[in-house]
Amino acid sequence: MQRTEWDVIIVGGGSAGLSAALMLGRSRRRVLVVDAGEPRNRSATHMHGVLGHDHSSPLDLLAAGRAELTRYDDIVIESGTVVSATPLDTDAIGFEVVLESGERHTARRLLLATGLRDELPDIPGLAGQWGRNAALCPYCDGWEVRDRRIAVIATDATNAHQAQLMRQLSPQVTFYSQGLNLPAAARTGLEARGIAIESRTVVEIVGDDETGGLRGIRLVDGTEHEADSIFVAPRQVPNDRLLRELRARTIRQNGVDWVLVDPSGRTNVRGLWAAGNIATAQSSVPVAMAAGNLAGSGINGDLVEEDIAEAVAATPRDDG
Ligand SMILES: Cc1cc2nc3c(=O)[nH]c(=O)nc-3n(C[C@H](O)[C@H](O)[C@H](O)COP(=O)(O)OP(=O)(O)OC[C@H]3O[C@@H](n4cnc5c(N)ncnc54)[C@H](O)[C@@H]3O)c2cc1C
Repeated sequence: MQRTEWDVIIVGGGSAGLSAALMLGRSRRRVLVVDAGEPRNRSATHMHGVLGHDHSSPLDLLAAGRAELTRYDDIVIESGTVVSATPLDTDAIGFEVVLESGERHTARRLLLATGLRDELPDIPGLAGQWGRNAALCPYCDGWEVRDRRIAVIATDATNAHQAQLMRQLSPQVTFYSQGLNLPAAARTGLEARGIAIESRTVVEIVGDDETGGLRGIRLVDGTEHEADSIFVAPRQVPNDRLLRELRARTIRQNGVDWVLVDPSGRTNVRGLWAAGNIATAQSSVPVAMAAGNLAGSGINGDLVEEDIAEAVAATPRDDG
C-alpha cells in the first residue's frame, strides 16, 4: 500500500480541529493540522459558557490548546490555507491536499474543521461592532448585558425567539422588525412580555467615535435610539468548498446545505470526516470540542480497522 506522509490531515485548527488532533496525537497518529488562523469568534474579547474558561479570551484557549499539542511528537501544526483536497489516485483510501503556498501533503484520512462564516445583514456600522457590542448568541453574550438596553434586529422570524431569550436577561428589549411580517403568535408573545416592536427600518448602527463603542441605532426617518447591545441572526454559511469538491452529501436545513455526518463526523465519502461549525450551526466552543473529540477517536478507530486488515493480509496463512 502507498505510504502517505501523514495518517491524518486536519484542515482548520479551531476548537474542533485541535480537539481531534489531541485524540489522534494520543493515539500516536501522524497528524498535520493546517490552520488559516481565523476562528469564528476571533473578534470576541471574551467567550462564555465554556466550563473552566468562562469569560476568558477565545484566542487564549486556542493558544493553550496548541501548546498542549506540542507534547505529542507526531503532531505538526502549520499556518496556511488549504486550497484543494482530492482523493488519492490509488486503491488505498487517502487524500492529497494543496496549500495556497503550493505545498502538497498526503494522508490516509482527512478531517475538515473549517468552521462557518457569519454573513451579517447589510447595515452600515454593524460589522464594526460584531463580537464586541453586536452578537448572535444570548447564551454566549447575553448575561454580560443583563438589564441593559438591548436591540434585536430581525433578519427572519427566528429573531423573535432571540428577543424572547434576551427578555429573560433584561426588561429593556426592543425588536426591530425590519419590515418582516411577524406571525401573529410571535407578535402576541413579544407584546405580552413587554418587548417593544419597532417597525421603522434600521439604516445604520451608530458607533461612539470617542470610545469606539456603541451609541445606538439610526432609523430610516433619522430618529436615533440609544442601545447598549445589539443581537442579530446572521446567515450562517459553512466553509465547505472542499467538502463539496469531494462530493460529500449534504442536507438542506433552514435554507443552508449542511454536510451529512454520522455522530463521529464521518461523511459518505470514504476517509473523509467533518466536525464543528462546518457541519452544524448549533456548535458552540464546547460542542465543537466534543465533535472534534469524537471525530479524532472515530478516525483512529477507522485506521485501526484498516491496520488490522493490512496486517491480516500480510500474515502468511498456514493452510495445512
Ligand atoms: C462573535 C461570536 C462570539 C462567540 N462567542 C462564543 C462564546 O462565548 N461561547 C461559545 O461557546 N461559542 C461562541 N461562539 C461560537 C464559536 O465561535 C464557534 O462555535 C467555534 O468557533 C466553532 O469552532 P470550529 O472549530 O468549528 O470553527 P472555528 O473556530 O471557526 O475554526 C475554524 C478554523 O479553520 C480555519 N480554516 C477555514 N478554512 C480553512 C482552510 N481552507 N485552510 C486552513 N484553515 C482553514 C479558520 O481560519 C479557523 O481557524 C461565538 C461566535 C461568534 C461569531
